[in-house]
Amino acid sequence: MDRKNIWEIWDEKMKKNAFSFCDGYKDFLSVNKTERKFVSSCIRIAEEKGFKDLNKLTKVFPGDKIYKINKNKQVIFAVIGDNILKEGTKIIISHIDSPRIDFKPSPVYEDEGLAFFKTIYYGGIKKYQWFTIPLALYGTIVLKNGEKKIIEIGDNQDEPVFTITDLLPHLSKDQMKKTIEEGFPGENLNILAGSIPDTGKDKEKVKAHLLKIFKEKYDIEEEDFLSGECQAVPAGRMKDLGIDRSMLIGYGQDDRACAYTSFSAIMSVEKPSATPICILADQEEIGSNGGTSAYSLFFQYFIEEILEKTGYSMFDVKKVYENSKAISADVASLLDPDYKEVHDPRNAARMGCGICIEKTTGSRGKYGSIEPTAEYIAYIRKIFDENNVIYQTAEIGKVEQGGGGTVATYLARFVIDTIDSGIGVLSMHSPYEVTSKVDVYNGYLGYLAFYRS
Ligand code: MN
Ligand code: MN
Repeated sequence: MDRKNIWEIWDEKMKKNAFSFCDGYKDFLSVNKTERKFVSSCIRIAEEKGFKDLNKLTKVFPGDKIYKINKNKQVIFAVIGDNILKEGTKIIISHIDSPRIDFKPSPVYEDEGLAFFKTIYYGGIKKYQWFTIPLALYGTIVLKNGEKKIIEIGDNQDEPVFTITDLLPHLSKDQMKKTIEEGFPGENLNILAGSIPDTGKDKEKVKAHLLKIFKEKYDIEEEDFLSGECQAVPAGRMKDLGIDRSMLIGYGQDDRACAYTSFSAIMSVEKPSATPICILADQEEIGSNGGTSAYSLFFQYFIEEILEKTGYSMFDVKKVYENSKAISADVASLLDPDYKEVHDPRNAARMGCGICIEKTTGSRGKYGSIEPTAEYIAYIRKIFDENNVIYQTAEIGKVEQGGGGTVATYLARFVIDTIDSGIGVLSMHSPYEVTSKVDVYNGYLGYLAFYRS
């Protein structure tokens, strides 16, 4: 039951592999900060590896590598195994949306000679962490004629960034007395976006100038923001952290750490007996309610389409679910030495000690947890042990300290054996989350072992 520090176990070759794997991870997360970009970049890689769009196939055979996209924001990859009925599928589900600051439908306004974007935050953030940092802007704006305008500002060299301002300490007497929740009201998360007036206008000159730039650069009008998805995310690349370069700091590791590693794993699987499936879901951070979330029927439709195109009857679909196994791959909270009091040290996960197996999620008395069976936990332990994957127990925190859920329930309800197992993160949901390089690489090895099992 002692936790093992991977740095003490792995030889130099394994450590080198971890560093080079994480170089790829760093590059990928640095340029794929939205679910749309993550999906399209994964598809580009997958097509190079021979994956084909399921929509374009009339028949599917064992050995085929396929994918299916859901509204450009969710994607499922699969490698068809020898016998999908008998062997079932091996599913890893993760999510590719991350906490961020979204534009409101009517975002542009002017106040005291400054132009701003009005926002609403996406997901569970500690709002104060998002003030005074440089933000990059990503948007997909769809015009009435269907034309798409892609906005990307702030992550390339020499591009401007944006920010949310905060009050100077000198005048914060009242603010400092408030709770953190109340001291940083959601409606104050307004993004500073411009200050040059359009001298040809009589009123709202700065706003007019800002809109003029959008018109010139992207050919969009103010009302086009209504049919747009614009997100502000922390600007800048993911970086090595620490004098020994052992860790990573960067935006969106919840849950792109698990998404990238499980996606990389399915790219490496050849000739499986079971059918490995990698689901990259959207909308987890806002409760998985929409059509691109894990709750949607997209996964079910995907399985049904495969069965139909491999020539099985729809009646067999139950057998596929019955024989399938799943990992809900979402990041786990690591014990932060400055906040030990929120953890039970015996059960809390530590950085560098491997992939986290979370027997219980949810809150209080296991409320909301999927409760994997003892049999299934034993099955996962065996796979990890046989493949030298380092794992540790984890829980989100002390029993009555709070809690959180994952998308595990949306697979468990198909009566598929499901367990939560993901990579540990510090500063979760902050603009710059922290992971360990050995944990990320070990996570990849764990997911690969599961797919190959
Ligand atoms: Mn997550
Ligand atoms: Mn999260």
